[in-house]
Amino acid sequence: MPTDPFTYPVELAATLADRLRTAKQELVTQWLNRISERVAIAKRKVFPTHALINHVPLLIEGIAGYLKRPEREIDSKAPVVAKAMELGALRHGQGFDAYELLKEYEMLGDILFAFLRESAEQISDDVPRSHFLAVWQRMAQAIELIRQATVSHFLRLQSAQINERESRLRRFNRTVAHEVKNKINAIANASSMLSENWVEQAERAEFEQIIARNADGLKRTLENLESLSRSQADSRHCRNILLPEAASEAVRELKEAAEAKGVAVRIADDLPPIEVDAATVELCLMNYLSNGIKYSDEKKGERWVEIAASVEGPDTEKDREVIIRVHDNGIGVPADKRDQLFQEFYRAHGETVTDAEGTGLGLSIVRETVESIGGRAWAEFPADAPGSVFAFAIPARRSDDLVATEDLSENPPSTV
Ligand code: ADP
Repeated sequence: MPTDPFTYPVELAATLADRLRTAKQELVTQWLNRISERVAIAKRKVFPTHALINHVPLLIEGIAGYLKRPEREIDSKAPVVAKAMELGALRHGQGFDAYELLKEYEMLGDILFAFLRESAEQISDDVPRSHFLAVWQRMAQAIELIRQATVSHFLRLQSAQINERESRLRRFNRTVAHEVKNKINAIANASSMLSENWVEQAERAEFEQIIARNADGLKRTLENLESLSRSQADSRHCRNILLPEAASEAVRELKEAAEAKGVAVRIADDLPPIEVDAATVELCLMNYLSNGIKYSDEKKGERWVEIAASVEGPDTEKDREVIIRVHDNGIGVPADKRDQLFQEFYRAHGETVTDAEGTGLGLSIVRETVESIGGRAWAEFPADAPGSVFAFAIPARRSDDLVATEDLSENPPSTV
């Protein structure tokens, strides 16, 4: 909104704007402290102060410039608007919601108006009150404009994300429906063949296998769907188990699938006997292992998948993590497809590997699950090794765990 330059108290505004500039760093600190109090209460995981420190002083700088020059408008080209939009993008990236963003601006407003009030106390009583009000109004406008720029950019990004998710979800529905339909048809056809008297014994065994394989596939698809619907909100990570046991359990579950594809599944004999969350680790290992089996290389005489693990990180207890790697000598992933592997519904071999059924969900479930307990998931493609390595890391902070890793020799892990 334009401010009349003839009635605007330019001198008073310039004095207050200069004070605002001088106190900029102090105000930013106050604001960040207020945000971190809130953040701590809300247990927000990400709070990159350095990123905010880059943005907020420039916002205050922009507000000071706006106070000082009544002829200046805050339009979409103003640098302060670009900064405000970047703040919206930053908060969007961190998973904030619009309410939290509005709350942050409310706090910024509180701090800036409190500052203005204190500064006004130090100005001569001769200055008419209407002048103070004019500056106050201009400051309110400036805050409002940058708040709008931040929030509208945030909402734009949010709606683009929702649209994108919706279209991926539609694609996913089609894939799942297709996969479930194929498997049900295979089961129905095989079982109707079994009811025919003329079918030979050898063929019967084959039809039974078709039924078992497809029922297994259906079970896995349903498990994936279940984990997906749980993965965002599930906080029931509570049953602990020793890592070698979790690995044996995952291998046991996939024994038949591995045998059917002629893949040997091995567990390294130096897995640290560290306590891990059973649900998370089994889910991740099952996904990685079943991929290692599914994407094995038929051209190789010997096909294998191996689970290895180590505790890594700084010597201090905090920040140490257990890194679990599933290595295979399978078909690998083309270099140009590796970046997207952990995206929902992404399939790197969509057109090339026709018999590997799947939905492109497994890896994204792994990533979401480990991230929900403060871990990470990634893939590695060592130049000197065949196939792929899929890895995940989870925090290993408990002192008992670290002790457990030290008496490895007394308590050797089991192998399968
Ligand atoms: P799905 O196997 O159901 O397609 P995932 O999310 O588990 O879904 O995997 C995504 C894609 O990553 C797979 O489609 C495949 O192209 C690739 N991929 C995953 N694991 C491996 C592996 N061990 N070797 C080669 N490619 C893999």
